[in-house]
Amino acid sequence: MSEESTAVTHPFLDLPPLSAAHFASIEDRVARLLDTRQDVVITQGEALLPLEGAIRSTAGPGTTALNVVTGPYGQTFGDWLRDCGATVIDLAVPFHAAVTAEQIRAAFAAHPSIDFVSLVHAEAATGNTNPVAEIGEAVREQGALFYLDAVASIGAEPVLPDAWGVDLCVIGAQKAMGGPAGVSAVSVSERAWARMAANPGAPRRSYLSLLDWKERWIDGGRKALPHAPAQLEMLALEACVERIETAGLPAVMARHASAAAATRAGVLALGGGLEPYVHEARDAAPVATTLRTPAGVDASELVARALANDPSVPLAAGGGALSKEMIRVNHYGADATPEVVRASLTALAGALGVVGDR
Ligand SMILES: *Cc1c(COP(=O)(O)O)cnc(C)c1O
Repeated sequence: MSEESTAVTHPFLDLPPLSAAHFASIEDRVARLLDTRQDVVITQGEALLPLEGAIRSTAGPGTTALNVVTGPYGQTFGDWLRDCGATVIDLAVPFHAAVTAEQIRAAFAAHPSIDFVSLVHAEAATGNTNPVAEIGEAVREQGALFYLDAVASIGAEPVLPDAWGVDLCVIGAQKAMGGPAGVSAVSVSERAWARMAANPGAPRRSYLSLLDWKERWIDGGRKALPHAPAQLEMLALEACVERIETAGLPAVMARHASAAAATRAGVLALGGGLEPYVHEARDAAPVATTLRTPAGVDASELVARALANDPSVPLAAGGGALSKEMIRVNHYGADATPEVVRASLTALAGALGVVGDR
């Protein structure tokens, strides 16, 4: 090796600084992906950053929150809301189903003071998806602020904050978008900005603050960035949105829907007692399919055996107590293909000791 090798450039390193104009153009592309005219703030951290920041910015002791729990993320949101001093009404839905707009309306009737609704669109961790368009109508009738975790749905199914009346819509790139995990975004409605401005407990001069971004970035016309941007993550986010634009968002969503349908159908054809965990196909998320193991079969042991057969397949056991009975087939991003679904089912069949018929 010659001495010059020490000065060799690397594709991840030695990047020129990312300009404010470039940063703003990536925000605009994310806004187009969401078909929104709201402000889109790109948050340079994993999606839990805007998820927590948006709750702490808008909720406080005067808030009455309806927190819909269809999986582990809903539980986390309830904890943050309580920590902010909000009165929290948890609406827990069995993980094998979705919440309905009727249940949301019943909660409003029982608790007329509800002025905030938190909902997870699709839960990769439990495999369900909720009917946000119908729920949005109910939330608008109530006049409540609508917070949505669309991290696992963006790229796999339509996410339309403006059409659905979502005030705070959080996305992350690491699931169906097939992008990086270290960057995320939130769209913020005028109503949500007003709620934050009126909230004395909203984080300021803080990494969690959305108002800081409004004051220091958006209100100044997005001319100067308040901090050095995370270029690597921003460039990866741009590349991932560009790849979706090239393929077409409908095609990317169709690929996920097909992977989910094939997984459900394949599991039923397999025999061996595995079943879709989510009972109704319409409640099943296109991003990931969860399966229930037969009685007496431990899901984490079955997954370990399947991964020993084929370490490449995107299988995982459910988290926490679900690790005994739930298998997750994470067919998202590059794994939303018939080949990956087939390999996953083959590995599971081998682990169950059943012989697949194809
Ligand atoms: C994956 C996911 C997130 C992001 O959280 P990680 O656990 O860090 O991946 C947030 N919300 C939902 C609904 C998700 O599925």
